[in-house]
Amino acid sequence: MDTNAARPSRPRTVFTPEHEMFREQFRRFVEREIAPHHRDWERAGIVPREVWQKAGAQGFLCTMLDPEYGGAGGDFGHAAIIIEELARVNASGVAFQLHSDIVVPYIGSYASEARKREWLPRMAAGEIIGAIAMTEPGMGSDLKAVRTRAVRDGDHWVINGAKTFISSGQNAGLVIVVCKTDPEAGRRGVSLIAVEEGTPGFTKGRKLEKIGMHAQDTSELFFEDVRVPVGNLIGEENGGFRHLMHQLPQERLVIAVRAATSMETMLEKTIAYTKERQVFGHSVFDFQVHRFKLAQAKAEIAMFRVYVDDCIARHMKGELSGEEAAAAKLLGTEMQNRLLDDFLQMHGGYGYMAEYEIGRAWADARVGRIYGGSSEVMREIIARTL
Ligand SMILES: Cc1cc2nc3c(=O)[nH]c(=O)nc-3n(C[C@H](O)[C@H](O)[C@H](O)COP(=O)(O)OP(=O)(O)OC[C@H]3O[C@@H](n4cnc5c(N)ncnc54)[C@H](O)[C@@H]3O)c2cc1C
Repeated sequence: MDTNAARPSRPRTVFTPEHEMFREQFRRFVEREIAPHHRDWERAGIVPREVWQKAGAQGFLCTMLDPEYGGAGGDFGHAAIIIEELARVNASGVAFQLHSDIVVPYIGSYASEARKREWLPRMAAGEIIGAIAMTEPGMGSDLKAVRTRAVRDGDHWVINGAKTFISSGQNAGLVIVVCKTDPEAGRRGVSLIAVEEGTPGFTKGRKLEKIGMHAQDTSELFFEDVRVPVGNLIGEENGGFRHLMHQLPQERLVIAVRAATSMETMLEKTIAYTKERQVFGHSVFDFQVHRFKLAQAKAEIAMFRVYVDDCIARHMKGELSGEEAAAAKLLGTEMQNRLLDDFLQMHGGYGYMAEYEIGRAWADARVGRIYGGSSEVMREIIARTL
């Protein structure tokens, strides 16, 4: 099998030799500790916490975090490599990127020094798994409309409300909860408050049954008179919306990076499958209709690769705009869904079988157009710049 058949002939320039060495190390970790077990975790509906600790012990969590707080002191290139290597084996349940590149940056950027020293080293070690709880049963896209309420009472915040669809909800040791602290003030009345597992009144609800990403634990979370110290405020009181807007572009780039590698990997697998599978005395690949679709896919994926690598490079220089990140997420996830559907079709009935990676990747990919801000919300963000 020509495993490079689907790869763009253009060499990637975004990574340094040091990044590539890091990739080799993490790839070995994935092949040993993740890939052989992922199907079992899909059946269990959760990734064991020990996997996080093993990754933490080897420096694969919080790659961008300052070593002063236990991080690896790398850049977004290291983060991208973790995302790509997990995507390469379609380990969709292993939410290292949510923890390291989405949750930890809020704490690293906005928490008090005392809280950073308390939580970050344990997060880098994989002892505490992070989650972020924005979405509520009655609110998703319109973040400023959150109803979970936090009221100041002396040295504490008292939180009441419910969240849903929270990734790593069951595993989470620390949840950043998006709360209303001034209900009259719209987006200027939103704050981020961290709640630790075990805090009285904080309960985890159902592990939600999904149509894909089966190994990823996605949960409801409930807050009933949950009292946390005022020091658990992450960033400014009523400044939460601004902090979210600042961090969300990185979340969107994370999703786009995953989409790019998913498409490349699934194209490779589909080329191999269609060359092997015989129908009417020919390989599936011999039919021009399929060969042309694969050729078109290769061209489109190569084009997206250049765009997403440019976004990675620009993000490392601190130049990536919210609009560019939205474009990367929009194009990447829409293209991924369309192409994976074509690839599944070329697998015939086997494509629909869970034992084949294409079927699982297809179902896993569907949420990319919804979470992290839906495609419609991405179009709104881009449209505002027109
Ligand atoms: C597997 C999974 C994991 C998730 N993980 C997390 C998590 O860890 N933390 C978290 O907080 N949330 C998480 N979410 C929630 C996710 O971010 C929301 O589902 C998403 O933001 C959409 O919100 P909603 O589901 O309430 O849809 P709604 O906001 O009700 O949207 C319904 C429809 O209206 C469309 N729409 C919305 N606004 C506009 C507009 N301006 N113009 C046109 N159409 C529009 C939407 O695109 C969508 O098609 C997760 C969701 C899933 C499925």
